[in-house]
Amino acid sequence: MKVYADNAATTKMSRASIDAMLPYMDEEYGNPSSLHSAGQRAAEALQRARETIAKYLGCDAKEITFTSGGSEADNQAILSAAAAGRKKGKKHIISTAFEHHAVLHTLKKLEKQGFEITLLDVHENGVISPEQVASAIRSDTCLVTVMYANNEIGTVQPIAEIGAVCREKGVLFHTDAVQAAVHVLIDVRKQNIDLLSVSAHKFHGPKGAGALYARKGVILTNVIEGGAQERGKRAGTENIPAIMGMAAAFEESCLAMEENNAKMSAMRDRLIDGLSGIPYSILNGDRFYRLPGIVNFCFEGIEGESLLLLLDQKGIYASSGSACTSGSLDPSHVLLAIGRPHEIAHGSLRLSLSVYNTDEEIDHILKAVPAVVEYLRGMSPLWRDLETGKRKHILK
Ligand SMILES: *Cc1c(COP(=O)(O)O)cnc(C)c1O
Repeated sequence: MKVYADNAATTKMSRASIDAMLPYMDEEYGNPSSLHSAGQRAAEALQRARETIAKYLGCDAKEITFTSGGSEADNQAILSAAAAGRKKGKKHIISTAFEHHAVLHTLKKLEKQGFEITLLDVHENGVISPEQVASAIRSDTCLVTVMYANNEIGTVQPIAEIGAVCREKGVLFHTDAVQAAVHVLIDVRKQNIDLLSVSAHKFHGPKGAGALYARKGVILTNVIEGGAQERGKRAGTENIPAIMGMAAAFEESCLAMEENNAKMSAMRDRLIDGLSGIPYSILNGDRFYRLPGIVNFCFEGIEGESLLLLLDQKGIYASSGSACTSGSLDPSHVLLAIGRPHEIAHGSLRLSLSVYNTDEEIDHILKAVPAVVEYLRGMSPLWRDLETGKRKHILK
């Protein structure tokens, strides 16, 4: 049995998404900037896709800019807000310690350019509070960027409340909604969101397509210079097939949100209940404020990498955290941010589900993980020290 449980890294494309792409790779290959009718048909398709994305975010089609994905949307949102801030002499940005690297590395770059970055501490449950944001805002703050839901532990942040704080204080608010999209109800107006990023391949669309919402009046600066596509804000011939695939996937998943979330969270809860039974384990992230598909545990006395390799042999595709950090020996910055000690953070496992997973697959995971954890502990000198009392257990 093969079980794909790494949907926070990327997802399988849906049939509807593939079908929406095919005509634009085949007979409808016009360039939307061309004046002839083939080009105009492409331009109309692009407009339809823009309206679809806008509809499910609660904004105007004019407020959507297509990008190459979530990373580019995050970069452009942050760099744009920073450029606007710089003009007014406001060079302070607030974010959190557990953002995606697309955000953290962009902030690092701005820090080198003279911006001051405040990274808010994350509570042990993986949630930050609107009060933390409010008390960090200063007169020179130009941007607050807080992810909607975390990609490693799945916790969901109080975005509407943070949006209200930022609007009241007149500070731009960006949220990386790449993991949250299609699983939470997004309404950028009601939630006072100024900038928001999504990525198609996280919701059963193609890789290499994303969208940035920027409220009317928020001025975007170019990350990619060139032609006048995307109202001059993002140059390069539009990736029409991928954009059509993204719009189809977004609509399909937004329409089925309730049903999909119910199915996924039932599977998620079986995983949480089952894996909690493993001795010396701990669930990462709040039990309730979490996405329907993400489960993350630490198991004391084991290496996450060995666990992943043995699970792979049993046909289970999982992750120890973010795909970007696997391959490096540093523990996840997200697990450190919620206060897990290094030696515990090393033994992490992320299982991320989609609506395509089944109960039989969950049964398979619930059999395999405890067996592999026990096997690895049986081989570990560190575990022997813990069992003989030579070292003290950190987890219960
Ligand atoms: C995947 C991911 C990104 C990056 O999106 P890409 O489309 O892969 O560039 C950004 N933020 C979060 C939270 C993600 O999960």
